[in-house]
Amino acid sequence: MDKTATNEQIAQVVTVIEGLGCTARPIPGGDRVSIGVLNNKGPVDAAIFLGLPGVNDAVPVTKPYKLVSRETKPEDTLITVGDCTIGSGQLTLIAGPCAIESEDQAMAIAEKVKAAGAHLFRGGAFKPRTSPYSFQGLGEEGLKIMAKVRAQTGMPMVTEAMDLVTFDVVEQYADVVQIGTRNMQNFSLLKRAGESHRPIMLKRGMAATIEEWLMAAEYIMARGNHQVILCERGVRTFVHHSRNTLDLSAIPVVQKESHLPIIVDPSHAAGLRDQVLPLSRAAAAAFAHGLMVEVHNKPDEALSDGAQSLYPDQFKSLCRQVQAIFEISDEE
Ligand code: PEP
Ligand code: MN
Repeated sequence: MDKTATNEQIAQVVTVIEGLGCTARPIPGGDRVSIGVLNNKGPVDAAIFLGLPGVNDAVPVTKPYKLVSRETKPEDTLITVGDCTIGSGQLTLIAGPCAIESEDQAMAIAEKVKAAGAHLFRGGAFKPRTSPYSFQGLGEEGLKIMAKVRAQTGMPMVTEAMDLVTFDVVEQYADVVQIGTRNMQNFSLLKRAGESHRPIMLKRGMAATIEEWLMAAEYIMARGNHQVILCERGVRTFVHHSRNTLDLSAIPVVQKESHLPIIVDPSHAAGLRDQVLPLSRAAAAAFAHGLMVEVHNKPDEALSDGAQSLYPDQFKSLCRQVQAIFEISDEE
């Protein structure tokens, strides 16, 4: 639609789309609205829309991910969480422990990462662990601790919803709901996330192509939630020197294909602390919209992912370096 299109003109286009037996999905943008035409049985003639008042252009979307595609919405999606805007010309830094273990642990780490320059606090209350005998997270108690941390530090919280049973409670507390790599194609969970009013951070499946990942985001958007943040966290390859292989090329590819913001999680990609800083620098240089990094005040005693967790001082140095690199990348 034109930047100056009125609500009545948008409503008229929606009526015309529905009259064709299709579904209309208006996607609000920074300065204009795009309207997706979904559930069409065959090609829809663009000329039908071009003469309607307020219509700027009508573009056939060739990609299978319709709402996620930049063809549908050319300008970047910006997602506001607290004082911070993800997807704009700033590098959003999310940091915290893998899992919330206690109030003292969470508060101590949060104070440190905030002072270092983190914008959002991460931590798992419901943890997807490979072994059923590993620490499974504190559950709602962990969410309550995160809410206290938010009240104390002002940092919005990012935390994972692992299943349909616990989605409601996670959504009540979280500012951003994370869907983990193992759940990227949990379609019931994606549909539920699509009904949420919270932004969703969708991590890439560890064996997913970019097209599969964007189709997973399409599930969320198709249910009406347009606030999706994509998170590249490494994919499985044949190597043993790292836990996964960080696919940095996902950043330019996703930014070309989609208007959604993409952030990078170097911690789960690396699995080892000494790789996290170089990978973070590379992600900032590749112009990711943000980074999510695991930090622990006592990594040796961490109940999960201690080996990849940075010491607070290391995170402080990381923040300084990645912000400087991002600013140089931004000039181009
Ligand atoms: C996490 O961020 O805590 C996590 C479990 O990540 P992933 O789903 O990418 O393994
Ligand atoms: Mn972890």
